Amino acid sequence: MRCGHEIREAVIRRQVSAEEVTRAALASIEALEPTLHAYLCLLAERALKHARVLDQRIAAGDDPGPLAGVPVAVKDIFCVAGEVTTAGSKILANFRPPYSATAVERLEAAGAIIIGKTNMDEFAMGSSCENSAFGETRNPWDPSRVPGGSSGGSASTVGAGSVPIALGTDTGGSIREPASFCNIVGLKPTYGRVSRYGMIAFASSLDQAGPMTGCVRDAAITLGAIAGHDPRDATSVDEPVPDFCAGLRTDLNGIRIGIVPEFEEHIAQSDPDMAALYRRAYEDLRALGAQLVEVHLPHVRYGLATYYLIAPAECSSNLARYDGVRYGLRVETDKDVYTMFEQTRAAGFGPEVKRRIILGTYALSAGYYDAYYLRAQKVRTLIKRDFDDAFTQCDVIASPAVSCPAFALGAKTADPVAMYLMDYFTIPMSLAGVPALSVPAGYVRDLPVGLQLTGPAFAEAGVLGVAYAYEQATGHAQSRRPAVMAAAHR
Ligand code: GLN
Repeated sequence: MRCGHEIREAVIRRQVSAEEVTRAALASIEALEPTLHAYLCLLAERALKHARVLDQRIAAGDDPGPLAGVPVAVKDIFCVAGEVTTAGSKILANFRPPYSATAVERLEAAGAIIIGKTNMDEFAMGSSCENSAFGETRNPWDPSRVPGGSSGGSASTVGAGSVPIALGTDTGGSIREPASFCNIVGLKPTYGRVSRYGMIAFASSLDQAGPMTGCVRDAAITLGAIAGHDPRDATSVDEPVPDFCAGLRTDLNGIRIGIVPEFEEHIAQSDPDMAALYRRAYEDLRALGAQLVEVHLPHVRYGLATYYLIAPAECSSNLARYDGVRYGLRVETDKDVYTMFEQTRAAGFGPEVKRRIILGTYALSAGYYDAYYLRAQKVRTLIKRDFDDAFTQCDVIASPAVSCPAFALGAKTADPVAMYLMDYFTIPMSLAGVPALSVPAGYVRDLPVGLQLTGPAFAEAGVLGVAYAYEQATGHAQSRRPAVMAAAHR
């Protein structure tokens, strides 16, 4: 499928109807599902109904918005009113929310056609999509490999070309890592930029929704559609939403790009081929006119440890609500209510979610709170200050998004720490709350990887501007085709 903005043009000009576009996307998804399993449910009837209404509006001379007729997939962590929303968990296998997430409502208000709900690691905990209670998703570049996670279904379906745009969420890397593995653009906005209302909570001080798209322009358009203050989310920030497309540029003259020696050391030790690819990427940025400057982030080495105290602590609190009373699964028992809680949670949560709840409860318990949770909060502040200092010397930071390309299914499931390490380069930005994007940067051992671009809070336009110049100059996403691709593109 072409980029979303091209589809919109064709729909608005009535060269193709929104209904035809929707049918083509559904056909492509259905053809690839046996291989990829990117979806937990398709919303075919609902999508076709919306598409027909949209076609009528266009015929009547209306402009239904910047995403008119564009098929969009949403991670199954976003509530869609009346439709099963599982967050990849058995405990929510039969949950139908009575309302839609703000991000979903805003996509539809912009004319997008919501096509289905994508697979994910249970409650967004994971980096490979293997923690889904409903089977793993596969990578369109090599179906024996993971698509990344936790927004793995969204990355896989966009990477395969079935839909141009998907919505993901990112708590520590869940948009950027799968985007990197599937050769697409993934943007984690500034914390507070996009409403979390109707988005099932994992770690509330870190969770953020964002676009996963085939091209940078679509990421800019999608962010424009979903961003902005929402009175229903107290942490959404009342900050003006600029026209993110206005900042897209084709040169980087006058832009200072920060390179972080602490990250470069880590990538050189992890994988020399990856380090070489990123060095080439930085040289490409320089060739576009950017000035490369060295900036230090001395505390990012504590990022992983900090995150794995704060995120599980928040998760243990957020997931307390799944008790068999108010939502989803209940295991019936003739014993007392506590037994019902226990049995429901034992049956409903998968092993990684249980591990996080135990870790988080421990970190918050009396006697350990100061030693672990409180200390982690202090280190979080130090990491945030590192970024504040760095952005006095540069406009955007360029770094690896990942330390390796997509790995084989099963390769890391037995070793939680190896899995956690997948987010080494993405977690610091989540802790600092700053916007960061992954853009296709080329291939290592024939597998795609992404370059991460990070900006100061609310400077998504600047990040998208650099990403656009880089994408236009290098064309990495267009230079090769995934092994599994929508038929229309063969
Ligand atoms: N992989 C990280 C984790 O498991 C990040 C997940 C995310 O960003 N949702 O917590």
